[in-house]
Order: sequence, then structure tokens, then C-alpha cells
Amino acid sequence: CADSAMYHAKECGRNNYQFFTTELNVRAQHRYSLETNLRRALAEQEFRVYYQPKLCLNHSSIVGAEALLRWQMPGLGLISPAEFIPIAEEIGLILPLGRWVLEQACQQTQRWREQHHADLVISVNISPKQFQDTGLCKFIQRTLQQTGLPAHALQLEITEGLLMTDLDTLLPMFESLRQLGVSISLDDFGTGFSSLSYLQRFPIDNLKIDRSFIHDIPHNPDSVALARAIIAMGQALQMSVTAEGVENREQVQFLAESGCQELQGYYFSPPVPASEFETLFQRNWHND
Ligand code: C2E
Ligand code: MG
Ligand code: MG
Ligand code: MG
Repeated sequence: CADSAMYHAKECGRNNYQFFTTELNVRAQHRYSLETNLRRALAEQEFRVYYQPKLCLNHSSIVGAEALLRWQMPGLGLISPAEFIPIAEEIGLILPLGRWVLEQACQQTQRWREQHHADLVISVNISPKQFQDTGLCKFIQRTLQQTGLPAHALQLEITEGLLMTDLDTLLPMFESLRQLGVSISLDDFGTGFSSLSYLQRFPIDNLKIDRSFIHDIPHNPDSVALARAIIAMGQALQMSVTAEGVENREQVQFLAESGCQELQGYYFSPPVPASEFETLFQRNWHND
């Protein structure tokens, strides 16, 4: 049954059922193995922070980076965050892991800022689960103090889903973050189910257009219209707008013409280890 999709399930009878349970078992085992290994991965120092440059079109230079987590598990190679972040959230590991990423990213960025006398901004993804931790703001404040990173050089990337959770705890946290001086970006914008009224209620500084809208630009008129609308909305609400997933020159050209200031994507660079980011940054900086 497995090798012929045309083969009808009813003709497979019992075998089909067997095939199905075997596959479920394999998946359950894989998941179990990830989960047990995740629990020790932080202590074993198997996580790495990669950095993907963000470019400002006005100066055609690197103005910042997004910190993206990587898990290098011995024997299994690099595991995608899309696969392990949801598990880390489920088992509660996202709290220590999220704090670790924040510390690493702030420390590294401040080192670059000092060495290169540059106003680099670091963006860190924050899971909704981390907002259930009432100590989050205190932790961010302490991390800024300890690393010396100025608050305006830290941007938190959140997703629309977060804004649909408990407003009573969320609004005060946003207020504290705003008072600290860190900025907030709405990641994967346009893919969630949040209503636009949240843009009014929450102090959002940046909209990050999801890469699914960027992908078909400039060929798909709907994507073009949506991207333009998001850029116009950001401008009207005094929010900066970033495009993610920029992969080719046509997209860069379209975004430049449409007034999108900040770009990120494989066209410029994939996420890279810290040492490689530094090389990119130095080259880009001196070419200015
Ligand atoms: P995200 O925050 O939306 O990050 C952007 C994703 O798009 C990254 O995938 C990045 O490698 C990928 N990307 C960048 N440029 C391009 C491009 O031009 N084309 C394509 N096709 N993809 C591009 P990655 O690194 O696999 O991360 C996936 C997701 O995992 C992230 O999506 C974020 O939601 C989550 N994640 C990663 N690191 C962390 C973290 O430290 N904490 C939390 N809570 N989530 C994280
Ligand atoms: Mg992000
Ligand atoms: Mg994103
Ligand atoms: Mg995404």
C-alpha cells in the first residue's frame, strides 16, 4: 500500500491499518526521542544562536540581525526550530531556553556594537509562553544591565496569537517593556487571526510582513496588493515595516519602490553563526 497512492485503502484492508499504526509508532518514537534529548540539550550546550542580517535600504547597510535558535544534536545534525520550539513550549523548556537566547544575543550584539562603533539592533523571538512568566520584564532589564546593551538596541518579535491571550496580564507587561525602552515587532504579520484593533491597543513599533506575502512578488497581484497595504498601514500608524523572506532582486526593487525600509532574507544572507555574521557586517560596513 505504501508505495502506491492510487491503491484504494479498502483494497489494502488490514495491511493498511498496520501500515498506519507503524507510521504512528515511528512518529511517536521520534517525538519521544526529541523530547528526552531536548531536556538535556541546554546543559550539554547543544544550542547555538545564528544571526540573519537585516538591511536598511536607505543606507544599503546591515542595521541589525534576527537571532535564530539552532539545535545541533550529536548524531542527528541540525534540527529546525520549527520542529523543536513547539516541543520546548509544551514541556516548559522554552522558559530557560528563551532566557538563554536573550542573554546570548544581547551579549554578542553589545560586543559587536562596541568593537565596530555601530548602532546594531538585535531582534529576538519571544514565545507566548514566555509572556506567562511574570518575571520576563525583570529578566530583560537585568540582561540589558549585565550586557550593557542599550534598550533601544533590543527588539522583541512576537506573533499575533499572543495578542489574543489574556489582556489583563499582557497590557501591563507591554507597558513595562515600553518603559524599559525595548521595541516590539509583530512577526509573521498577516498570517494570524488577530483583529486590527490590537494595533491600536498595543504599543507595536514594527510590522514584519510574513514571507508568504513576499514570496510571489511581483508576479502575484494579490500578494503585491497585500504587501502594499501592509506598508501603507505601517506608515499611517507610524510603525516601521520589515519584509522577511526576501529572495530575489525583483522583490528588493518592488519593496524599495513601495517604501519598505528594512529587508531580511536569503537574497542577502541566510542565518549564519556569529563569526560569519561579523565577516558580513565588516564587509558591508566598509563598503559603505
Ligand atoms: P521567524 O521568526 O518568522 O523566522 C524567520 C524564519 O524564516 C527563519 O526560519 C529563517 O531562517 C527563515 N528565512 C529567512 N529568510 C528566508 C528566505 O529568504 N526564504 C525562506 N524560505 N526562509 C527564510 P528558522 O530559523 O527555521 O526559524 C523558524 C521559526 O522558529 C522562527 O520563525 C521562529 O518562529 C522560531 N524560532 C527560531 N528561533 C527562536 C527562538 O529563539 N525563540 C522562539 N520562541 N522561537 C524561535
Ligand atoms: Mg522572527
Ligand atoms: Mg517571521
Ligand atoms: Mg515565521
